[in-house]
Amino acid sequence: MARQPSSRPQATDGSLAFAEKLLSLLDTGSFTTSYKYALLIALFDATVEGTAADGAAPRSLHGRDLGRRVFELYWRQARPYSEAGPLRQSRQRDLVVKIGDLRRGLGLAEHVSLDAARATHPLAVGRLERELVATVVRYPIPLLQRFGASGTSVEDRFIYDVRWDDGISAGRIHRDDFDDRLHLVDGAGQHLIAIAGLARPVVEREWLRHVARRNPDHVDELRLEAFLFGSERVSLHAVREPLLALQNGTCFYCGGERGTWEVDHFLPWARWPDDRLDNLVVAHARCNNDKRAALAAIGHVERWWQRLLPGTRDDQQLQEASTRLAWPRRPDRTAGGARGLYLHQPAGTMLWAAPGQVEPLDPDRLRDLLQPASLAAEQRGSYGEE
Ligand SMILES: [Zn+2]
Repeated sequence: MARQPSSRPQATDGSLAFAEKLLSLLDTGSFTTSYKYALLIALFDATVEGTAADGAAPRSLHGRDLGRRVFELYWRQARPYSEAGPLRQSRQRDLVVKIGDLRRGLGLAEHVSLDAARATHPLAVGRLERELVATVVRYPIPLLQRFGASGTSVEDRFIYDVRWDDGISAGRIHRDDFDDRLHLVDGAGQHLIAIAGLARPVVEREWLRHVARRNPDHVDELRLEAFLFGSERVSLHAVREPLLALQNGTCFYCGGERGTWEVDHFLPWARWPDDRLDNLVVAHARCNNDKRAALAAIGHVERWWQRLLPGTRDDQQLQEASTRLAWPRRPDRTAGGARGLYLHQPAGTMLWAAPGQVEPLDPDRLRDLLQPASLAAEQRGSYGEE
């Protein structure tokens, strides 16, 4: 078969590393509103649609165009979901609330499209669109590529570069001479196109969870998810006390003493569903919720790895608890899961260190730490499971 001499974007190792970075952005970035999810979807769409006739990816995108795409995405979402009205997407009076108010104020029926509304009410729709476009250009665009919470975040412009920051005024954004281009980093356009099919549903899923969490009275999506794919959180209760004793009564991550305790999957459940004892740690609800599906930083891995080494105090206590509670252990498999998750991450992947804090992954340190030679558990035989 002849090779096509075209520059059509193809998935490469670079695309995988890019996708991993995007996932770690979802896991560790600050998402107080849903604007960044909307922007990511708009980025995928604009890049895919901007593909040239010869297949080449676009080199730049326009901020105002992305803003208009976000407006379209939110237009549908601002319909009433129930008698209580539209779903909340943040605690503020955000763009979705404003669109919902406009729809209600103009008396628009649910099915009325943005184009139809623009045709019948050009002034009112146009005014809101200008405001929304300015908000998207001012906030999510310059802030998207930050890992970690706003105060302590680390910026890595791995998708695009822009020449403004979140201090820009709405007036300037709408001036004719304002350069609203996002310059795509080398290769980023190709990667966005190559991964769009896989990554778009992941972003939508995170967005959906974001909305479900903010509307617990209306949406039982989280319950459905837990039912279909989730870990049985209630039953994890039984291991809390023995694990807390193993951790000397402190949070596994921050070492703090008092708090609301939760059992956390050290290797995130969403990436590696492992409920066996070695993968469970006790953490503050605050630490656990902030970590979400992120991989923990190497300092945490170092402490956690002690559990998997035969003969350590942690190993002995876990073995005792495992026997007493009839709770399975398979340190060899859990160690394999850790290697699978950590050793294939590209250098620079942001790992979760503490609430709002991330640090870049150091592959050499991880490889030294997770060596099979440091773990003789493979030869230890059965742990009474299966
Ligand atoms: Zn903590």
